[in-house]
Amino acid sequence: MMDENCIFCKIIKGEIPSTMVYEDEYVCAFKDLHPVAPVHVLVIPKVHIKSLEEVNEENAIYVGKVQEAFKKVAQIMGVNESGYRVICNCGEDAGQEVKHLHYHFIAGKKLGPKIIHD
Ligand code: 5GP
Ligand code: ZN
Repeated sequence: MMDENCIFCKIIKGEIPSTMVYEDEYVCAFKDLHPVAPVHVLVIPKVHIKSLEEVNEENAIYVGKVQEAFKKVAQIMGVNESGYRVICNCGEDAGQEVKHLHYHFIAGKKLGPKIIHD
């Protein structure tokens, strides 16, 4: 369920401080340490899933709850009307650094048409 060496598992357990913006039984959402936009929140399942490659029937409930959480985070951050972008990096080519499934929730300015940067 949890990986004791994982920084996001430690954030879930409160062992590492974070600015939590939303939390329920399945999901938590906290501000990214190095924001790329006025609103940059990481939304994660409260179970140690390494990446999208590890999603399965057993843990899919957590991933489904993450999908449900985005609109709640949007409301809390005041961007439900202005809009937002959600990005999930999976694996080396995507530059995934933290090996605990997480979705970047980005908003608060016009993000531009491009989602891919070299
Ligand atoms: P990735 O590159 O794996 O998709 O994104 C990892 C994200 O986690 C980065 O945007 C980075 O700033 C963020 N991050 C890494 N360590 C911490 C931490 O200890 N606390 C918080 N709030 N964010 C972190
Ligand atoms: Zn973890």
